[in-house]
Amino acid sequence: MDRRRLADLISRERARYAEQHPRSASAYSNARHLFGRTPMTWMAKQAGGFPLYLATARGARVTDLDGHTYIDLCLGDTGAMAGHSPEPVVEAVNQRLGVLGGATAMMPTEDAAWVGEELTRRFGLPQWSLSLTATDANRWAIRLARAVTGKQKILVNSYCYHGSVDESLIVVGPGGTAEVREGNVGAPVDTRVTSRVAEFNDLTRLAAELANGDVAAVLMEPALTNIGIVLPEPGYLEGVRRLTREHGVLLINDETHTFSAGPGGCTQAWGLEPDILTIGKAIGGGVPVGAYGLSDEVTARVEARDDLDLIDMGGVGGTLAGNALSVAATKATLEHVLTDEAFAGMTALGTHLADGTAALIQKHGVPWSVAQLGARAEFRFADPAPRNGGESHAAGDPELDDYLHVYAANRGVLLTPFHNMALVCPATTRDDVDAHLEVLDAAIAELVG
Ligand code: PMP
Repeated sequence: MDRRRLADLISRERARYAEQHPRSASAYSNARHLFGRTPMTWMAKQAGGFPLYLATARGARVTDLDGHTYIDLCLGDTGAMAGHSPEPVVEAVNQRLGVLGGATAMMPTEDAAWVGEELTRRFGLPQWSLSLTATDANRWAIRLARAVTGKQKILVNSYCYHGSVDESLIVVGPGGTAEVREGNVGAPVDTRVTSRVAEFNDLTRLAAELANGDVAAVLMEPALTNIGIVLPEPGYLEGVRRLTREHGVLLINDETHTFSAGPGGCTQAWGLEPDILTIGKAIGGGVPVGAYGLSDEVTARVEARDDLDLIDMGGVGGTLAGNALSVAATKATLEHVLTDEAFAGMTALGTHLADGTAALIQKHGVPWSVAQLGARAEFRFADPAPRNGGESHAAGDPELDDYLHVYAANRGVLLTPFHNMALVCPATTRDDVDAHLEVLDAAIAELVG
């Protein structure tokens, strides 16, 4: 690749971005009392140099403060996989917040029982508890796993992401040794004290790590989705389950992103049998919610322990978790929006997206690869596709990412800032996907010359 050409193209696109978005630029520069000038520091990660400000959003479209409307394939990095403000969720939220009243009252609502039953139907785990984020679902799942196994360490895959969970910030370093993940902010202890790490798709390393006898749980995504998509090789997930059982280690599947694989995530689609399952983001249709599900065996082991404070200050729970508003939105989302039928359509569109991307890669002869997980497809700058997080990390090219993102944004397509990922929602159309592919085609054409 001609890096000079790439740098020139980025400058050209950034200039156009700045010209097209004066109101977003000015909103950003006026936000003097926000740390990093954004309500949340991650929002500063923008290929164009400053974030686009949200004005309105509906279905698969968002409109920014400058009046530009985008085909939204970012969908709040999965938080809006149900589409923006789907009507049943709007109604349920209005009903709860406005008509009935009471967003949060430390009192359960009947909607929650429906949600628990539906999550069981989809994911198989029979007992559910709610949080407000996937991060918290993971944190609390980890605590329960430690409590019932009496073991300290959590094993994760290298370059995983499970939210801002202390235990997960560990990677396999160049020499194969475990290292604290670069950039880890104020770690409470060296992550190697709390965690072990293996590469995805590496059963040999997993077996060796578990043989130390100090691992409470393996926390993993059934396919990595936060370092590109890395799919499991045949036999890998079965091997993980066999090894975790052999070593008395609990298996936690984090389905927060892999939920794109179907109505019950990869767990249902691939017949997986985790002891604990965590999820968040999309199930609330845009309203904050997370959840963890427990097997009967884990539930019984927790309940057998009268020394665990699950009621008050024991470290599991949150005041607003399970609040009436989140639960009403989750019920509406699962009952009416992210239904089994909706997933069938989204998966078909995901396939169209992945096939179209593969065709462009071939047409332009770029050494990239694409992976699909139901409603989600992502390309990576490596061919063949990376087999694990380390390989995928090595294939990263932030400059190229920036070019493709700002190029797309300037032409009405929004991608997730952290990914070359495109995600579809029930409202996304085939024309939307085709429009995205056209823009990608043009971006690559300019790049390769
Ligand atoms: N788990 C996975 C697999 C994720 O991708 C993310 C966020 N990208 C999280 C957990 C954390 O979600 P949240 O930031 O909403 O807590």
